[in-house]
Amino acid sequence: MSKKRFETAVVHEGYDAKEMLGSLSTPLFQTSTYEFQSAEHGERSFLGEEDGYIYTRLGNPTVQVLEKRIAELEGAETGLAFSSGMGAISAVLIALTKANDHVLCSSGLYGCTFGLLMMMKEKYNMTVDFSNFTSKEEIRSQIKKETACIYIETPINPTMQLVDLQLVAEVAKEFDIPVVVDNTFSSPYIQRPIELGCDVVVHSATKYLNGHGDVIAGLAVGKKEFLDKVAATTQKDIGAVLSPFDAWLLLRGMKTLPLRMDRHSDNAEKIVERMLKHDKISNVYYPKNGDGDIYKKQMKRGGGVISFEYKGDKKESQALLDRLSFVKVAVSLGDPETLIEHPATMTHAVIPEEERLKMGITDNLIRLSVGLEAWEDIWEDLEQALNN
Ligand SMILES: *Cc1c(COP(=O)(O)O)cnc(C)c1O
Repeated sequence: MSKKRFETAVVHEGYDAKEMLGSLSTPLFQTSTYEFQSAEHGERSFLGEEDGYIYTRLGNPTVQVLEKRIAELEGAETGLAFSSGMGAISAVLIALTKANDHVLCSSGLYGCTFGLLMMMKEKYNMTVDFSNFTSKEEIRSQIKKETACIYIETPINPTMQLVDLQLVAEVAKEFDIPVVVDNTFSSPYIQRPIELGCDVVVHSATKYLNGHGDVIAGLAVGKKEFLDKVAATTQKDIGAVLSPFDAWLLLRGMKTLPLRMDRHSDNAEKIVERMLKHDKISNVYYPKNGDGDIYKKQMKRGGGVISFEYKGDKKESQALLDRLSFVKVAVSLGDPETLIEHPATMTHAVIPEEERLKMGITDNLIRLSVGLEAWEDIWEDLEQALNN
């Protein structure tokens, strides 16, 4: 069969109903263990001579459909599912590094990813540097002989700056250093880092991939050789595996990913247009309005997250959130509901002030995850809060 287009793969890939009594919906294998056919079959299973299932932390049929599906959508060889985005990120980063290694990161990171790297720095004497990745010379000058991996978020949360993934991948190849990309904000519908030469993609599937705000989950995709190693070490032995029920919900949520991402993006574009004209807003950050060249090279749409600077101090910015009516004050993103948060005191509060300000996370920066509601209603709610 020829390779299916994204919208088809997201519905079908990795599952054949005929193999499962014709069940059109992927069956939920809600089991922790599996009965062996015999003691000898059990022995062969543990020796890796049998393909079957042993114990759900080591493999589950429902979870494996999801792993095949995300690998196909990202254009990767294989995928692994985790109990959270941080479960995926920590399993990948711990598998790639050892004591005294160096990690080169994008200038902004998800708060807990930053926290994890700072812990690894302390405990394992590692070094962590941040780069703007603006030119090959800049990247080459920041790579050391102990550099174990390059770790990138793009768009960068919450400032929405973009990193040129192809540029980074080209330099990393010269040094044979793996490039890991957190693709949570875009989802594979908008951006596919593996196709641009990157090696590993991690996701908080909690966000756009699930898209319904009812699951915490993580995914990682990449080369089979590397992910087999993760599966056998940091996934199996640290144990942040996805539950079958959450995999089932995620498979269901993901089927509408292309429809949702287009709607999130359409709504966000309308709201950005209006924000740019509002006199209580000093800056608006949205991928499509930022670095045009990088945007055109690697993103299909702008996605649903907008950040903006309110003309007010920290207290006034917090008060703005409290004046909203149906727009919810909540962290997370990618839900049907529009969510708004204050990064400096919420998602990025763990980052020391000086570093936070260097990352562009000011006290009046506000992050909006535009939902699937009518954009006119979202704007009306924001406008009344801004004007009051
Ligand atoms: C939410 C998020 C994470 C962490 O994911 P969890 O599922 O909450 O563990 C990592 N990276 C980004 C960019 C995120 O938005």
